[in-house]
Amino acid sequence: MSIAQQHTIREAAEAVFEETVAQRRDFHMHPEIAFEELRTSGIIADKLEALGLAVRRGVARTGVVAVLEGARPGRTVLARADIDALPIHDEKDVSYRSQIMGKMHACGHDGHAAVLLSVAKILTGRRDSLAGRVVFVFQPAEEMVGGAAAMLEDGALTGLTPDATIGLHLSSEYPLGTVALRAGPSMAATDSFRVLVRGSGGHAAKPHLCVDPVVIAAGLVGALQTLVARETDPQDSAVVSMTSVHGGTAYNIIPEEVELKGTLRTFLPETRAHLKARLEMLPRSVAEGLRGSVTFAWIDESPAVVNDDAMTARLRRVAGGIVGAENVVESAKTMGGDDMSLWLQRAPGCYFFVGGRNEAVGADKPHHHPRFDLDEGCLQVAVETLTLGVLDFLRAD
Ligand SMILES: [Zn+2]
Ligand SMILES: [Zn+2]
Repeated sequence: MSIAQQHTIREAAEAVFEETVAQRRDFHMHPEIAFEELRTSGIIADKLEALGLAVRRGVARTGVVAVLEGARPGRTVLARADIDALPIHDEKDVSYRSQIMGKMHACGHDGHAAVLLSVAKILTGRRDSLAGRVVFVFQPAEEMVGGAAAMLEDGALTGLTPDATIGLHLSSEYPLGTVALRAGPSMAATDSFRVLVRGSGGHAAKPHLCVDPVVIAAGLVGALQTLVARETDPQDSAVVSMTSVHGGTAYNIIPEEVELKGTLRTFLPETRAHLKARLEMLPRSVAEGLRGSVTFAWIDESPAVVNDDAMTARLRRVAGGIVGAENVVESAKTMGGDDMSLWLQRAPGCYFFVGGRNEAVGADKPHHHPRFDLDEGCLQVAVETLTLGVLDFLRAD
């Protein structure tokens, strides 16, 4: 990557900066949650069509895939942005605050969508000098229910074979002007599950005539904690969190059933396989031992985000040229998950973080906080890094 090219892309990103900010604020004011992103994806598809790209709308209902063919043949790179918001009420006091009660872009996906649109615009303007193909993926439902899996099932990549995958997450954890990334496992595999515990209801004063699902569920919550504490190598990382317990209606009634929900986080495939098998087995044995029964269901499953060594080294170098090598930091391994992993399974790649933290503008709240915000200067860094990352890959040896 020449210095000259870095300058041209910086200028191009600066030229579209106002548009990137305006688009981010528009999405921010009109947040839409999982698979409801009709307005958002409509705007995205319209803009991509206006650029003259081949656009597929409605992939898994609200996903969009657009393909940019360079003037010359070459490799294919996939760039992905997630576009969904969260069911959180926006408590910020800013002009671009959410206009929708109880919904909010509290994770920065509004920025991801705006950034990828600007990247598409810049790269399309360079189509004549481009060798290869860029696949732009705008993915719904990252936060709640498996948008990546749904898009892939709906044929998002039919006829396309990416050689590399690139994506970014804007982050209030890292200061503005930094880029954070790591090679290898970076974010945990995420598996959500539901256990329906069945007993036999009746009068609370006559428990011997009932099978109490509350007692079974309580035992289960404790027993499931032993999977990490007693069955996982202490040198490895795993989490089992039970996050929802629902059952019963009154003081004097033993209910028929209790519903439990939880999540499993792991890094190593073998740990994941062991814990998944045991999570299905243990509730059954505990319930049967106490005369009840369970129905177990996996709700949403995505593997760990694993960054490719070579692609991470490439992005590290590209980012260093933009923010300075001293501002490219090693990101912390997190038990948080992201279904970017499914796109990364299709082609080796790198999912990196672009810092947007700045206390001076109130952008210091954690993700999913009701006053979450980012210093919009990070949009400039994000557009530059993603554009140059794509160009660097397509140009390389
Ligand atoms: Zn999030
Ligand atoms: Zn997110």
